[in-house]
Amino acid sequence: MLHALNSCEVMVSRESTLQQRLLKSQQYVVYAASLTYVVFVLLGALVNPPASFPEAFQTPKYGFALLTGLTCLAVYLWPLWIRTVYLVAYVGCLLSLALEIPRLLSADLSVMQLFLWQSANVMISFLLLGSRWGLGANVLTLLTILVSLMLRGPFTGAQLADWLTVCLTLAITAYVSYLIMTFIEGNLLTHEEDQGKLRAARQDALTTVYGRGAIEEELERAMGYSQKNNTPMSVIVTDIDHFKSVNDQYGHATGDDVLRAVAKRLRRAVGGGGGMVGRWGGEEFIVLLPGLAKPDALVVAERLRREICDQPLADLNITASFGVASYRGVKDTTDQLFGRADQAMYDAKNAGRNAVR
Ligand code: GH3
Ligand code: MG
Ligand code: MG
Repeated sequence: MLHALNSCEVMVSRESTLQQRLLKSQQYVVYAASLTYVVFVLLGALVNPPASFPEAFQTPKYGFALLTGLTCLAVYLWPLWIRTVYLVAYVGCLLSLALEIPRLLSADLSVMQLFLWQSANVMISFLLLGSRWGLGANVLTLLTILVSLMLRGPFTGAQLADWLTVCLTLAITAYVSYLIMTFIEGNLLTHEEDQGKLRAARQDALTTVYGRGAIEEELERAMGYSQKNNTPMSVIVTDIDHFKSVNDQYGHATGDDVLRAVAKRLRRAVGGGGGMVGRWGGEEFIVLLPGLAKPDALVVAERLRREICDQPLADLNITASFGVASYRGVKDTTDQLFGRADQAMYDAKNAGRNAVR
């Protein structure tokens, strides 16, 4: 069967594309930042080789380069665990900061490199962890810097000015990143809500298959596709047999359970192959089968008939009658196609019900 994506599937796939795009961006940011840092450290070691080996490599810079390299590898291997991997790397980064700060102060070295890398890390942390966790992580980073500074003190005036600049600029970068991230998250939430409303508007509230309007649109669309590409398509109209007596004997709520169960069974039976199920009204459903010619559609309808009558639905033995009609060429219209399927379904009723025509 031609696998035509129905619009619910299209919406879901668009949503997952958004998620995948976010994940991909996060991955690329981690790769870019990690590899840049590793290259930076390696180049530094080449230009200005450490005095002795292996002692020189015990400085936090090399430890951190190893950590970022491993982070990059872990993100490549387990992309779905990117946040956990980053959190582990972040703890390593905090330790490295706590070790590096006293070293910089006692040797009176420039804070420039640490400051620039840390600024990049602030933005990356928000992108990967989201606004809340990002805020928490950055408050912890600032606290770590402040505590390391206080434990190490006293400083010269120049050192004090440098570190004050570092802390304030990191705080401002974190604040701006937080604002941007909350804005992005707000937009994503609105988008998800809109998608949810759109999906709900297209669904039949009781059975969650397509509602009448949506399945009519899908029928038009599938017919248009067949006309344009000269491909077959078929529809099955199905109506539950003696449904009124279900309501009369067991109550309306049980009738509703039966409708839900029938819809679920129809969707399970054809959904995977690109078929679409809609509730036409009352206890009548329509199944669209893009790409299927009549002989195959009759086989599907027979399978559906058995699916419904073979096992109890909502603890009741239910049967349904099925009518099949197929697209006949460019002059065919959706009304004619539906009319033929409906007529076939009534023929099945007249033939004693629980039948396919
Ligand atoms: P047939 O085999 O000829 O199709 O008989 P039938 O009893 O199924 O047909 P009929 O059209 O007489 O009955 C349809 C019933 O479906 C009548 C109506 O009360 C019931 N119905 C329609 N919509 C709903 C619904 O949403 N929930 C419930 N529980 N019943 C519904
Ligand atoms: Mg009926
Ligand atoms: Mg009916």
